[in-house]
Amino acid sequence: MNEAVKKSIIDKIEEYDTIILSRHKRPDGDAVGSTLGLAEIIRASFPGKRVFLDNSDRSEYVSFLGDEGPKPTDDDYNNALVIVLDTGGTSRVANDRFDKGAYLIKIDHHIIDDEYGDIAWIEEERSSVCEMIADLYVTNRDRLKMPVRAAECIYAGMVTDSGRFRFRGTTGDTMRLAAMLIDAGIDMEGIYAQLGSEEYEALRFRASLITKIKLTENGVAYLRISNALRKRHKISQEEASNSVSLMEHIKGSLIWLTFIENDDKSIRVRLRSRFVEVQPLACRYHGGGHACASGATVYSRDEEAQLIAEADGILKEFKKEHPGLI
Ligand code: AMP
Repeated sequence: MNEAVKKSIIDKIEEYDTIILSRHKRPDGDAVGSTLGLAEIIRASFPGKRVFLDNSDRSEYVSFLGDEGPKPTDDDYNNALVIVLDTGGTSRVANDRFDKGAYLIKIDHHIIDDEYGDIAWIEEERSSVCEMIADLYVTNRDRLKMPVRAAECIYAGMVTDSGRFRFRGTTGDTMRLAAMLIDAGIDMEGIYAQLGSEEYEALRFRASLITKIKLTENGVAYLRISNALRKRHKISQEEASNSVSLMEHIKGSLIWLTFIENDDKSIRVRLRSRFVEVQPLACRYHGGGHACASGATVYSRDEEAQLIAEADGILKEFKKEHPGLI
């Protein structure tokens, strides 16, 4: 699929001496894995090129994948190829300078948010951008090398964004590409150990949250984590945000939401679902993402209550039309 666009991306990588990679703010495993992984593929395949990662924030959760290295200067942007990965809209790019290069490529799997890039390679049905990078490598094997470190970064992103190969976007292709990475010699046991471990305090915090889960009339599960609660437990925003997974197996709760207060009092919303789509709801609250995994922001408790009520209405209608789904 999209053979021509994949070839044109490699043509551009060959053409430019300086390549700068960016991804979305508040990065997850896919954003980090795809940028680090593609950087390593380019470095191994074209040793003469200067490859930078330029992003304003980082993720503790996948920090084991390694550092981004030195940042490019403003001058480095002149005549640079910039590739933005895993980022639907320009407002979410973790780099203010992403449009200062000579040529811009977008590689993404989100439902189209805004269009940008001289080349945009978008496959919304892919389970992760890391899967796309693995595919980019396979379809251009004659021009690219896949070092083990790249394979590990890409595998970690595939695992995390597909929910350990469980979510809707996971296909036979996903598994074939994962198999290719395993054959490249990755340390699977080490990757799963890193992804699966958490601090004792974070675990205790998550345990305390279970009693705070609320259900709406039609089964939307939700949790709210105030700044005060988070600070009392000395938990980072990132650790607090992981609590969304606590609700994923509640029978009948096909939609679940976490509200995490930010330091500026705005509230980050994480929306998750099975069978029913939550992305349109996220779009109505300054967000977007995927059909069953989206993010949004609300700015008051009233707006939060309104979002919960809308989610409840969506679930009510969905259950009427699809009785029997658990
Ligand atoms: P999160 O709950 O932050 O992990 O987000 C779930 C998915 O939605 C990820 O793929 C994010 O990249 C995406 N997403 C989160 N927030 C937004 C937003 N404000 N606009 C568009 N997509 C978002």
